[in-house]
Amino acid sequence: MPVADNLHYFENELRGTPARLVAVTKTHPVAVLQEAYDAGGRLFGENKVQELVAKQPELPADIEWHLIGHLQTNKVKYIASFVHTIQSVDSLKLLQEIEKQAAKHNRVIQCLLQFHIAAEETKFGLSLPEAEEILQSPAYQAMRHVQLTGVMGVATNTDDEQQLRHEFGLLRSYFEQLQARYFADQPAFKEISMGMSSDYRLALAEGSTLIRVGSAIFGARNYGNAG
Ligand SMILES: *Cc1c(COP(=O)(O)O)cnc(C)c1O
Repeated sequence: MPVADNLHYFENELRGTPARLVAVTKTHPVAVLQEAYDAGGRLFGENKVQELVAKQPELPADIEWHLIGHLQTNKVKYIASFVHTIQSVDSLKLLQEIEKQAAKHNRVIQCLLQFHIAAEETKFGLSLPEAEEILQSPAYQAMRHVQLTGVMGVATNTDDEQQLRHEFGLLRSYFEQLQARYFADQPAFKEISMGMSSDYRLALAEGSTLIRVGSAIFGARNYGNAG
């Protein structure tokens, strides 16, 4: 798999846009991640804590690790010492645990609020009122080791472009509303994480700042060999 060529392809795709690439490395072995690193990749996304914890010590320390999958509260402690961004925050309870564990390591963990934008019932994520409830809570407002830097969403698994555009537009509108109401004086709140291998172009057209691309860089995932 010409990982370096594929990474360079995406660098070209993003030239002239404000967006950055998160290389989604789940299920791929450390040697493949090293190949991506050697080709210049520095933002890596994993969706499982166990896999992230196994790979991180094997790779260079300047990688920005993003957790992009659903995170159980009791697992935050395993990644709090090194994770750069947790993209999948979907409750105040989870945010409180991230705050607690980040404080133990005397660091600030960047977080994105994950929104439910897909038609499928099963995908995780907040509604706009749920997100506002978190942002208005005294518990959130007292946090000093969590920095909310934007929003994230996973669109419906479909090739219906109109539907995808609608869902990405929805996420951008959530971002804009939250930015205006809660982060007007905080330039760090700037990320809209949306778009994957099959739909990143539509996501970029709707304002994505972080595309999460796995299979288009690393090839198909072999879940049989995962972990
Ligand atoms: C696996 C995954 C991706 C990457 O998907 P590809 O279709 O392989 O690009 C992006 N986002 C999340 C949340 C994922 O779990």
